[in-house]
Amino acid sequence: SLPPEGTGSVGRVVHLGILIKGPEVLESTRKVDTVVLDKTGTVTTGRMSLLAVHTADGTDESEVLRLAGALEHASEHPIAAAVAAGAVERVGAVPTPEDFANVPGLGVQGVVDGHAVLVGRSKLLAEWAMELPEGLACAKSDAEAAGRTAIAVAWDGEARAVLEVADAVKDTSAEAITRLRELGLTPILLTGDNRAVAETVAAEVGIDEVVAEVMPQDKVDAVKRLQAEGRSVAMVGDGVNDAAALAQADLGLSMSTGTDAAIEAGDLTLVRGDLRAAADAIRLARKTLGTIK
Ligand code: ADP
Ligand code: MG
Repeated sequence: SLPPEGTGSVGRVVHLGILIKGPEVLESTRKVDTVVLDKTGTVTTGRMSLLAVHTADGTDESEVLRLAGALEHASEHPIAAAVAAGAVERVGAVPTPEDFANVPGLGVQGVVDGHAVLVGRSKLLAEWAMELPEGLACAKSDAEAAGRTAIAVAWDGEARAVLEVADAVKDTSAEAITRLRELGLTPILLTGDNRAVAETVAAEVGIDEVVAEVMPQDKVDAVKRLQAEGRSVAMVGDGVNDAAALAQADLGLSMSTGTDAAIEAGDLTLVRGDLRAAADAIRLARKTLGTIK
């Protein structure tokens, strides 16, 4: 929604790179004491790249890239974009899947060249009673210890590869966290990603509390739990997965770079996808209310 024009403080908020749903939103910012931040696309750029491919014994790397790339080409997840682009770069064009489905919070599954293919968390493979052989399990834990996301690839009932993908922390995120702390707010990182990856990102930007490996539908419960502890919660997010949590939060801040669902669910939109604007919005709103009252 467009901001009202010529309304003084609201106009200034717009000038700072924040779109606000209405002046009543400012009131919620006063009580907020906790800021829950989604990881991918919010604290990090969300633009991932494929950094390495580890194959099981006897598995051909280009076959991994063809089959995984084909499925991920059909998905809109930031990880999928990295895998698809990396695959096309290394093996040329990838086939069109005969069948495809997103498995929210876990990965993708489908049929490519007659093979039943899975790409995603090892939990997705576990649902089909598959597990990573020792070599791939090692590659996965090494990648995660280094702060990268490890994606498993399986087809025809066997785990065949682990892909390493990573995205960069936005260069404005650490400063944004400092500013939020200066306002007396406690930052918490909330993500569906692996705990080791989440903790690496959290440490890089100065967040101490991490809630990781949360399924998309459970993000809203994480916010409710904090509220049940008596906290007043601001949530910052960008994904379809974040929409319910943004709506549940006392204050929802969405990234303009995010999905429409997230933008609609939020009370405020951070225009340049710059997290520092979250701190600016809260500080300005508090100051404005202070002078008005
Ligand atoms: P986040 O909360 O960080 O935005 P999601 O809930 O979208 O993450 O996804 C959680 C995890 O599920 C990802 O970190 C990844 O391991 C896996 N995943 C989800 N979608 C895909 C996909 N298309 N390809 C590979 N892995 C995926
Ligand atoms: Mg996200």
